Amino acid sequence: MALRFYNTLSQQVEDFTPATDNTVRMYTCGPTVYDFAHIGNFRTFTFVDLLRKCLRANGFHLNHVMNITDVDDNIIRNAVARHQPLAEYTRIYTEAFLQDCTALRLERPERLALATEHIQDMVEAIERLGQGQHTYSTEGSVYFKIASFPPYGKLSHNDFSGNLAGARVDVDNYEKADARDFALWKTPKEGEPFWETAIGPGRPGWHIECSVMAMKYLGETLDIHAGGIDLVFPHHENEIAQSESLTGKPFSRFWLHSEFLMVEGQKMSKSAGNYYTLRDLVGKGHAPESIRYLLASVPYRRALNFTIDGLKAAAIAIDRLRNFKLRLETDRCPDGLNQQLAARTAQATQAFTESINDDLNTAEALAAVFEFVRDANSAMDAGEFRAGNAPAALEFLSLFDSIFDVLKPSAQAGELSDADIEARVAQRAAAKKARDFALSDQIRDQLLEQGIILEDTKSGVRWKRK
Ligand code: AMP
Ligand code: ZN
Repeated sequence: MALRFYNTLSQQVEDFTPATDNTVRMYTCGPTVYDFAHIGNFRTFTFVDLLRKCLRANGFHLNHVMNITDVDDNIIRNAVARHQPLAEYTRIYTEAFLQDCTALRLERPERLALATEHIQDMVEAIERLGQGQHTYSTEGSVYFKIASFPPYGKLSHNDFSGNLAGARVDVDNYEKADARDFALWKTPKEGEPFWETAIGPGRPGWHIECSVMAMKYLGETLDIHAGGIDLVFPHHENEIAQSESLTGKPFSRFWLHSEFLMVEGQKMSKSAGNYYTLRDLVGKGHAPESIRYLLASVPYRRALNFTIDGLKAAAIAIDRLRNFKLRLETDRCPDGLNQQLAARTAQATQAFTESINDDLNTAEALAAVFEFVRDANSAMDAGEFRAGNAPAALEFLSLFDSIFDVLKPSAQAGELSDADIEARVAQRAAAKKARDFALSDQIRDQLLEQGIILEDTKSGVRWKRK
């Protein structure tokens, strides 16, 4: 079944293939590095990672650029308050962000682009917008004239025709009611850092960086542009206005936006103070893969309510899958093939793929996995599972993990539960009984790696935590 995505621009679910060759040209908006990212931010970045993995599973290559916003209103405010040079201040949070991405197993885009390394490109774009009568300057700042771009509003599906003229807005982020001429270039206030350029001293507004870096590396028309739902307006609307005014071509064919991570009915955000960072949660003993699983488990266009109970349930779900995998790898089943189970495996595999390809319906994809695990476990318990069924079942798990990426435990993952350990000890005993000493040693070593020591005593095996 064809790969389909909901496109914010057309408000339709559309079949997706890249425009020119087998490579998807994709741009996603990255973090503003003024503080640690919270797991609400990471819901969006996890969605982008799932998107990458889904595109790859469909046989496409990726050329994906993500920006790091290392100059904006918040960064300047904080760096100035701490008397720190901008670059020194932002490097701390850029590195922290990349470490968190690694912990959450988020793939690195093909290119990370820092805004501050593209100031000259932005200045040139602003000059060209000026030549096209899309800008005006006031007191050293340059503004984009939204009345010069009649389709303004086409992404957020707002009719701004009544209020396109006149007022300006200086802050980088604002509400829909403030649909006004926005700043491309901001003149420095007293004590603020700035760049000396052909259009005067100052710094770029937030929106121009993404237009410029996206087109520099990916061409005038992208296949996919993605980000959190709060970026539709004004950020992406402004990116379209800038880019399409420069090229006269559609800026991106597909626009994908992920819904919020919520806490008790409110968006998780710095300003509301209702947020957790990854570090907070890992520090409390939650494994990064449980957080990844939780963030991935609800389809990206549905709001996801964050709770600690939800996180615990995610850990249990992962354990169930790991135990099932271990069982497939270690249980001795009679030779042969159970045809009915083979058909069931093929059906579950297909259901999983179709769900992922259906606009990344991760909830349905997980349902396909867990229904299969339940059936396969029952077949094993009933002695109906055959050795010949294991490879396809393992392949299905590996397909699942090529998207969800949670089966391998993190080095810093929380401790195994007692029940997990007991199950593994029992598997080792069975292996020993079958005189499969290589396997029994392997299980002992794997447990040791996770800090569990086994002792063979006369009365059986005892285990303890290191
Ligand atoms: P920022 O660092 O503020 O520029 O945000 C980085 C990304 O996180 C953007 O794509 C935002 O849309 C996204 N984001 C911010 N808060 C949330 C949230 N509560 N849930 C999901 N995504 C969010
Ligand atoms: Zn952006």
